[in-house]
Amino acid sequence: MIDAARADKDDVTRCSICGLEPVEDAFPRAVCPRCDARALNDAAAPAAVGPAGKGGDNPVYIDGRQCWRHYGIDGWVTMLDLHNCRDYYEFCKKNGLPYRE
Ligand SMILES: [Zn+2]
Repeated sequence: MIDAARADKDDVTRCSICGLEPVEDAFPRAVCPRCDARALNDAAAPAAVGPAGKGGDNPVYIDGRQCWRHYGIDGWVTMLDLHNCRDYYEFCKKNGLPYRE
């Protein structure tokens, strides 16, 4: 959720793919929902989310760039991977994120 006052500030964090849409800054290099909607999986099919938002495809690719999704109870956050990590565990370690299965 992004409130208007915060979005108006110059130091707002923007989407790592399009560079336009403001995104949540609690996660590194987050991707906006509009770009996330273009995400593909390993098989070049639209990235899928499991039942009730529990898990789903990882990694995903947006415009050919590897991204990882953090799946939680409220949905997911997609983050751009700058290190070409082999798995989500490595991505978490490189980015200082707590790793959860
Ligand atoms: Zn975007």
